[in-house]
Amino acid sequence: MRVPIIAGNWKMHKTVAESVDFVNQVKDQLPPANELETALAGPTLSLVSMHNAAIGSPLKIAAENCYYQNEGAYTGETSPLALYQAGIHHVILGHSERRRYFHETDEIINKKIKAALAAGLCPIVCCDDTMGRRVAGSQVHWVVNRILLDAQGLSADDICRVTFAYEPNWAIGTGQSADPSQAAEGCYLIRQTISYMYNRDVADNVRILYGGSVTTDNIHQLMNNRDIDGVLVGGASLDPQTFLQLVNH
Ligand code: PGA
Repeated sequence: MRVPIIAGNWKMHKTVAESVDFVNQVKDQLPPANELETALAGPTLSLVSMHNAAIGSPLKIAAENCYYQNEGAYTGETSPLALYQAGIHHVILGHSERRRYFHETDEIINKKIKAALAAGLCPIVCCDDTMGRRVAGSQVHWVVNRILLDAQGLSADDICRVTFAYEPNWAIGTGQSADPSQAAEGCYLIRQTISYMYNRDVADNVRILYGGSVTTDNIHQLMNNRDIDGVLVGGASLDPQTFLQLVNH
């Protein structure tokens, strides 16, 4: 049984004080983690304070990125081991904004996934997609190739600690979500690829989310799909009451 996940991705929003205030507003109203996992990814500066505010609640705190070394002369980077030791649970890796604006390649993302897992973090690995590829019929090749490259060299135990997120670029921050069948198709493709790389049992254990303009209006239909194990939510996760509505969809 895969426990569903609702994860917020705040991106570069909120001060430390705003982040803590948000956690305090939602933490006592969340379901037990064995029924529905809830996570919030915030800016690096807020993470420790968010974690401290969330202690004793089911809310898990996630980083939005990390480096692939635990220490060294890498000015400005964040150590996966330091994140783990500060109580951070997940790290989002390979988000399309990281790929597009910070030129992260599949090779870099693969290194980051391995380092995050070795440090004790659970990566949420994003797989982007474009409308052009969908229309041109090259979507299957694109998604399969992304997963093969990003997950290359991971053991079956490792991959079971990874959560994937299918996030078509045209749906991110646009207000135009993929329809549930398109979203489910992307998630299914990722699961089939994992099944090909490992086996069906392993693939059945991995959680695969959809992300891209998820709102209180469409979450129910998306979550009601057996191929979709949860959602990664950007804009709609910025308001505490809306986040609670998403959780209680
Ligand atoms: P959005 O962002 O919900 O604002 O579309 C999703 C994401 O980037 O993960």
